[in-house]
Amino acid sequence: MRLSRYFLPTLRETPSEAQIVSHRLMLRAGMIKQAAAGIYSWLPMGYKVLKNIENIVHAEQVRAGHIPLLMPTLQSADLWRESGRYDDYGEEMLRITDRHGRDMLYGPTNEELITDIFRAHVTSYRDLPLTLYHIQWKFRDEIRPRFGVMRGREFFMKDGYNFDLTREDALHAYNRHMVSYLRTYERMGLQAIPMRADSGPIGGDDTHEFLVLADTGESEVFYDSAITDLRLGNRSVNYDSRDECAAIAAEFTTPYARTDETHEEAVFNQIPEARRRQSRGIEVGQIFYFGTKYSDAMGASVQTPDGKQVPVHMGSHGIGVSRLAGAIIEASHDESGIIWPEEVAPFRVGIVNVKQGDATTDAACETLYKALTAAGIEVLYDDREERAGAKFAGMDLIGLPWRVTVGPRGLKSGVVELTRRRTGESEELSPDLLVSRLS
Ligand code: ATP
Ligand code: MG
Repeated sequence: MRLSRYFLPTLRETPSEAQIVSHRLMLRAGMIKQAAAGIYSWLPMGYKVLKNIENIVHAEQVRAGHIPLLMPTLQSADLWRESGRYDDYGEEMLRITDRHGRDMLYGPTNEELITDIFRAHVTSYRDLPLTLYHIQWKFRDEIRPRFGVMRGREFFMKDGYNFDLTREDALHAYNRHMVSYLRTYERMGLQAIPMRADSGPIGGDDTHEFLVLADTGESEVFYDSAITDLRLGNRSVNYDSRDECAAIAAEFTTPYARTDETHEEAVFNQIPEARRRQSRGIEVGQIFYFGTKYSDAMGASVQTPDGKQVPVHMGSHGIGVSRLAGAIIEASHDESGIIWPEEVAPFRVGIVNVKQGDATTDAACETLYKALTAAGIEVLYDDREERAGAKFAGMDLIGLPWRVTVGPRGLKSGVVELTRRRTGESEELSPDLLVSRLS
């Protein structure tokens, strides 16, 4: 993409309404624009990041054997009356009346809708296990939307639902989700720690939240520092293996890690003092096992091998896709701007032409731009008539992993400069070598 033809409305001034760094940087880097309180338009650069996050979430769900579908944003109130949550959910639910006077709502979550799909089509244990998920906009009329996309009213969320014959089967689904979530966050360059949490309006006893440690997080967390050394890494995991998933879940849930809702001082104090940590975290996901809460209320049952009719065991699992864009920035930035991890970066490389209008430099940039693009690398070429200093500042702000600086002085000796955003390290090399290095 040539920057002169792109739409990247960056801001020089720090917007005064933004209280935390990710919100400031998302506004300054031209990623989002507020449309109403807690409701945002995703401008081209932000949209690319959102899609990259969404794609990783999809890929890891499919890898774990989960099946994508798409449910609507607007739902009928009738289903929520069946589960009892139409009254229980409270003011966060945006209620709408259609022209015929029917009660509708903008879905804050989808347990009812998915249970309705399930009961219409599944009648036998032979169709289990089944895990369906979608990535769709949600609406919660948060009393205090803030921190940009981190606590929006409209937000993008992956929500998945498992249906199993027995409690043991459903607990495997729970562990499988835990493992696949760990992989999902690691691929985004994030460490998200599973912490024992409280289930809130979803219901159920078994639940973990995934938290990214950050001073600006809204949750208070207590943990054993040993947990921060754990990585899933490149382990190959058989998601159908109960033992494998259970072992990894045990590994990541044995060190103490809890949110303030479930924190127990006495247990915490048994950790050696040097390893006790109290800090703040951003919730980027949550998994639940809630048994037969919805299947009982809504009559979602299957026939067992010996002909009995039993309610299915269910769980639900959510990842805050749009919140992650902010959480990644909270975890990865410096005073100059964003530092995108490779897998979510909107472009991998930025080319800075330091002498726009100089025929040799323009031609070298042009050749490099085409060669990188042909190699399948996404490039943002800053070809504007701007001072070099402004171009460098802009590149640092938007945080692409690699910057290539092209100028007449280097070209005289046949080199360009490659700089890594995360470390600031630079090296000079020929354009050909640069293309093969980045490929
Ligand atoms: P919170 O405690 O932050 O209000 P929650 O526990 O109510 O979140 P869940 O129902 O667990 O949220 O939703 C799954 C995920 O969706 C959360 O882990 C979070 O990452 C994301 N999420 C929830 N509410 C919002 C919001 N208002 N804006 C952006 N993302 C959100
Ligand atoms: Mg939650």
